[in-house]
Amino acid sequence: MVNPRMLQLGTNRSCIRELFEYGMRRAAELGPDKVCDFSLGNPSVPSPAGVGETICRLVRESESRALHGYTPAAGAADARAAVAADLNARYGADVQPGELFFTCGAAPALTAALSALAVEGAECLIFAPFFPEYTVFAEAAGMRPVVVPANTEDFQIRAADAAPLLSARTQAVIVNSPNNPSGVIYSEERLRELAALLEEKEREYGHPIYLIADEPYRELVYDGARVPFIPLLYADTLLCYSWSKSLSLPGERIGYVYVPRRAADGEKVFAAVAGAARAAGHVCAPSLMQHVIANCAALRPDIEAYDRNRRTLYEALCSYGYECVRPQGAFYLLIRSPKGSAQEFSDRAKAKDLLIVPCGDFGCPDYLRLGTCVSYETVLRSLPIFKELIEEA
Ligand code: PLP
Repeated sequence: MVNPRMLQLGTNRSCIRELFEYGMRRAAELGPDKVCDFSLGNPSVPSPAGVGETICRLVRESESRALHGYTPAAGAADARAAVAADLNARYGADVQPGELFFTCGAAPALTAALSALAVEGAECLIFAPFFPEYTVFAEAAGMRPVVVPANTEDFQIRAADAAPLLSARTQAVIVNSPNNPSGVIYSEERLRELAALLEEKEREYGHPIYLIADEPYRELVYDGARVPFIPLLYADTLLCYSWSKSLSLPGERIGYVYVPRRAADGEKVFAAVAGAARAAGHVCAPSLMQHVIANCAALRPDIEAYDRNRRTLYEALCSYGYECVRPQGAFYLLIRSPKGSAQEFSDRAKAKDLLIVPCGDFGCPDYLRLGTCVSYETVLRSLPIFKELIEEA
């Protein structure tokens, strides 16, 4: 006998993974230059040079046990100190090293945060469009996900849309900005409105409601846009972060949860995050990567290539008549299906070896997502296909 829910999760592949694997098979059959694969959010720019240099230096110069051995479960002291110092320098925050819990990327940061808050009957609000794994993570933690429908006017969050869905069962609200799949950065004004609503509801229900800020794209922003530092706007924030995208290290699995001590029951929540990570089999985040972060916390990615893809695709697709959401950050472009369902449009594109993801699982069923972290050649090759598709539509 196997756990049926786990069997289902392991058998029903996500549509992103399915498209990506299809793309790999087609590329092997036809040649990689015949497939335009926009399915995945795998960074296409190399890690900043300092990352590779640091890895080489650490491997050359460090004693093996210090470099590859277990670290404390919450993380190595120097890595925690380097991240706290970087956040404080950038945001004028007061992050203490002891408030950071290192994880194997943002996904385990989210599962630990959700499990830490999953009391009996708990609900978790999720703003659409959202990273599809949120519902998987919330349910696995024992929380019921409650989706706030997408605001398709400008894809910003609206407190008024969340208000009727909050209840005494609400333990957490997840926000992701810059957003996957829309690329929108939630404005400080909208976040303040949400914070005011949550503060009011905390008073009404007599318990904290935690805002889980999922921010793996925080450094991927364009045109000088600013990403508000949410813990400064709302005290009961748990911030989940990873270097998967910002330092192009998704396979190395390194990130953290920041639980401010000043958050309601902050010390207990931090301990529960540690407990949830422990229960999930976390021993420590990869030690070599923690040492890399201790040395590279202040490095930023070179996003010129993402920006060029973003501008080229946005301008071209708009000129062909597509309705596109203008991305301010991350490396995605959200487009509305010009005709028929998003699944039908994705299938028609697939028949031309153009792979774009229908966004039903993101809570945005009329839209499709392009992962724009691809080569510029792929962008240029895709343009006539996009034109053909809308002209046929
Ligand atoms: N959150 C969002 C919004 C993402 O897009 C992703 C990955 O694509 C994750 C979390 C998971 O990131 P990680 O690879 O660090 O686990």
